[in-house]
Amino acid sequence: MSHVFPRHTKASLPTAVAGYGCYLIDADGKRYFDGSGGAAVSCLGHSDADVIKAVQEQVGKLAFAHTGFLTSEPAEELADLLVANAPGDIDRVYFVSGGSEATEAAIKLARQYHLERGEPQRRHIIARKQSYHGNTLGALAAGGNEWRRTQFAPLLIGISHISPCYEYTGRGDGESSYDYGQRVANELEAEILRLGPDSVMAFMAEPVVGATSGAVPAVEGYFKRIREICDQYGVLLILDEVMCGMGRTGHLFACEADGVAPDILCVAKGLGAGYQPIGAMLCTRQIYEAIEHGSGFFQHGHTYIGHPVATAAGLAVVKAMLERGLVQRCAEMGEKLQAALEERFGQHPNVGDIRGRGLFRGVELVADRATKQPFDPALGLAGRIKKAAFQAGLICYPMAGTRDGRNGDHILLAPPFIITEEQITEVVDKLETAIAQCL
Ligand code: PLP
Repeated sequence: MSHVFPRHTKASLPTAVAGYGCYLIDADGKRYFDGSGGAAVSCLGHSDADVIKAVQEQVGKLAFAHTGFLTSEPAEELADLLVANAPGDIDRVYFVSGGSEATEAAIKLARQYHLERGEPQRRHIIARKQSYHGNTLGALAAGGNEWRRTQFAPLLIGISHISPCYEYTGRGDGESSYDYGQRVANELEAEILRLGPDSVMAFMAEPVVGATSGAVPAVEGYFKRIREICDQYGVLLILDEVMCGMGRTGHLFACEADGVAPDILCVAKGLGAGYQPIGAMLCTRQIYEAIEHGSGFFQHGHTYIGHPVATAAGLAVVKAMLERGLVQRCAEMGEKLQAALEERFGQHPNVGDIRGRGLFRGVELVADRATKQPFDPALGLAGRIKKAAFQAGLICYPMAGTRDGRNGDHILLAPPFIITEEQITEVVDKLETAIAQCL
């Protein structure tokens, strides 16, 4: 009997024993195509020789040095590389062990920044419905997914949630995409004014919404308007690119496509590509200097921040992406994946929308294409598709829709950037089999 405490206590899971390229192998020798990269983690595939070598060399040289006493070469080099390629005035990198730690640190940094500048009244955060920012209590409070939040609601700090930018069901009849984006962006201003214009510390959003919505980018102009509003009211813009960052959308940082730069940027998943648990919170020089010229101490930290082996893995991953042109490849293969999905499911009576950027694509399932009516959540469609796809040898990431019917069940695909055209066909074939079995 296993003593591992799994997430799903009623499921009995096969044991993964190996991974190569885009595939995972279980103890019975069954092969699974990693069509969601775990959860948008495996951007390089599972057996990248350069990353394996970098990890092995680093662990042999220096496994750990506490950052309260020492910095390390890979942490310094990775920070330089990220900053050299980051948008706007991003200047400093705070390394953590994963996505929730990154967003949690971002919330605390935003608060401390305003305190250091003599604005203690800035204590509100605004985020969006249909979002996910992690599972620790601060990050969970920022997320707008009711299913994940409900049972912990009494423990969560009060964060307001405005509408997401979710064109598929949000845009009104006769309303242009641009006008829709401006309308929902303006909800931020209304919420800032409602809370008190000098009492809001930050707005947090995913540039392309992942786990809760299925690869939904904002419409043209939305994030530019958000940036304007944040600047007008002295509110920090925190972009959570834990899922959509690190090349996943065909840009190293997803916000590049929206033409905006944040004050604080969170990445994780693809940064370590699964070879090590690592995330990072990046911030502008202005924010860093507020701390440096103020108390001189960011009052937050975990034992494993800046871990030498994790940063060595991250360094090898980012170098691989840049030196092998993998971000560009992700953009190109992403277009091919979109085309293949449209060809196969574009006329499917229960596929309402196919969207995304790069190798970050979502397929939304609906009971009725004309009305966009989602399936009854009681059918558990997403869970059944996940199981059927797994049986067919495909790992994908189906999620149930929000219970209020704002969005329906959807399937997220986020394969490794090394995926080939034949493998795109393999993914689409297996997905088709799984969907057909469940509808
Ligand atoms: N933020 C976003 C956008 C995510 O998608 C996730 C995880 O799915 C997180 C934060 C939390 O990351 P982690 O699971 O590494 O803590």
